[in-house]
Amino acid sequence: RSSDLRWYRDHSPYEGRIFLLEWRKEKMKMSNMLMPTLREVSGDVEIESHRLMLKAGLIRKMASGVYNYLPLGLKALRQIEHIIRTEMNDAGAQEILASALIPSELWEESGRYQAYGPELMRLKDRNDHEFCLGPTHEEVFTAIARQEIKSYKQLPINLYQIQTKYRDEIRPRYGMMRSREFLMKDAYSFDKDQAGLDLSFNIMKETYQRIFNRCGLKAIGVEADSGSIGGSNSMEFMVPSVVGEDDIVHCPCCHYTANIEKATSYLETRTNTDWLELTEVFTPKVHTIEEVAVFFDVDAKQTAKTLIYTADQQTIAVMVRGDREVNDVKVKNFLNLTEDIVLADEMTLEACTHAKIGFAGPIGLNVDHLLVDEEAAGLTNMIVGANQNDKHYKNVNYSRDFSGEIGDFRLVQAKDLCPHCQAPLEISRGTEVGHIFKLGTKYSKAMNASFLDENGKPQPFVMGCYGIGVSRVLASIIEQHHDDKGIIWPKNVAPYQVMILIMNMKDEQQIKIAEDLYTQLKKANIEVLLDDRNERAGVKFNDADLLGIPLRITVGKSITEHQVEIKARHEQDSHYIDIDEVVCYCENDRSASDLLEG
Ligand code: ATP
Ligand code: MG
Repeated sequence: RSSDLRWYRDHSPYEGRIFLLEWRKEKMKMSNMLMPTLREVSGDVEIESHRLMLKAGLIRKMASGVYNYLPLGLKALRQIEHIIRTEMNDAGAQEILASALIPSELWEESGRYQAYGPELMRLKDRNDHEFCLGPTHEEVFTAIARQEIKSYKQLPINLYQIQTKYRDEIRPRYGMMRSREFLMKDAYSFDKDQAGLDLSFNIMKETYQRIFNRCGLKAIGVEADSGSIGGSNSMEFMVPSVVGEDDIVHCPCCHYTANIEKATSYLETRTNTDWLELTEVFTPKVHTIEEVAVFFDVDAKQTAKTLIYTADQQTIAVMVRGDREVNDVKVKNFLNLTEDIVLADEMTLEACTHAKIGFAGPIGLNVDHLLVDEEAAGLTNMIVGANQNDKHYKNVNYSRDFSGEIGDFRLVQAKDLCPHCQAPLEISRGTEVGHIFKLGTKYSKAMNASFLDENGKPQPFVMGCYGIGVSRVLASIIEQHHDDKGIIWPKNVAPYQVMILIMNMKDEQQIKIAEDLYTQLKKANIEVLLDDRNERAGVKFNDADLLGIPLRITVGKSITEHQVEIKARHEQDSHYIDIDEVVCYCENDRSASDLLEG
């Protein structure tokens, strides 16, 4: 600030320093900025956003799933943070910054220190005390509320932070999309009752939609798995993308939308009770469902398969129709398991079925749980494995021939019928950029975090949690906004609004006009980048397209007519405007974008 400079001038014994500051300020131009664009990107790069972030010099890799942000990448990240902060503050949330280093005891209170598994980064200090690096902060925020919030009068309250998170992902990939160190905005709401939580949740739902809109991201809210809490207590915000790692089920008629982990389909009720006699059939070399269907000359829908899993030291059999897959998440939730289910090894499988692989079935099975999908339970005269080598049963019917724990354990497939309107469902891919979740009293009860209610009685906080993957948002924006030449930043998140190119660095006049425009735009509070490098025009144009700054101003030969060329990155054509109109033009362009995205 100029007042600081004045202070230096009056008080600093080092006069040279003032000169240095002035000089540096003047030189914040591309010729001496760290913007290492690359011609080619080598290595393990699978998706376009990752490639462009490296190519445009936004990030550099440190280790698998660990990246450094360079100036341009950090600037874009800060723009996203700014949008998130303003919207969160407007929604009445308060920003804090918790520690990333968390003593293990806190995680033991919630029971997650073991349950979180190898994704949790654990470490010890010099005194052998165990810590973890926070992958998420439910425990920490619950502990803060437990200590600081005493009375219902202080509720509701929503606390948030924007902080680096650590997760030792089994498969870090796609650059910033799935990394091991990433920036997250996480918020936690504390209410006195369920009605309060519902309201807090809805406020966040609207806030999230606004945040993604302002970021120029098309994101849709989908019903999501809410673990053992269940119900419609969780919503994910998904960016439709062919490179997304999640499957989204949606109904084109009634717009039912759900993550496949949570999605369900219409269940046709059993009408046929014309049960035939249970029959054992010799089926050598018939193992797979396809082989069974061919052998018996039936549709796979007339067969059922039984898969054997293990988790939490239990054996779990899950039976679904032959043409279906098992939904692991539904099984995990149904049995309230801490571990994910994994297919049993051969020895365990043989101990459960007394047969080779390929002949498992529901009759005479030796397992801790037999879960039967409701659809499979409704089949009439189905074909299943006989738990004997080279044998199957036909004409099997639930309740007459076997029984188990019935529920919805199937993975929805495209063309299944919508549970609400029975239209055929569609499935597409998406990337999760945000997740909002009604936690209820899960953490407050486990960690004994309570407030005094109107009657002076202690009550557990009713909590919600709300996450946004800030670095994943950045990558998703680029994934959604680019062409074969480079990034096309939406204006609200662009690291700079305007880029000025000097065509001929030997032309004093061009340099003077470009520098004047640069100074005027800066004065008008427009973020501007000046390409004053000694490069060929072609290189400058290519880099401008790669960097994707929304407006490009080219100062070239047309200055003889007192004009410069102006081009929007997302448009094909350019046009010429009078040099005196440039600032006004850029200001209008900027405010138009606020209206559009804001
Ligand atoms: P995913 O299913 O993609 O692993 P998650 O369910 O583990 O996500 P949350 O725990 O809900 O994610 O985290 C909140 C947000 O943080 C997510 O919506 C996502 O945007 C982001 N996020 C999660 N894991 C990563 C990661 N490894 N790298 C970057 N962002 C992530
Ligand atoms: Mg995850």
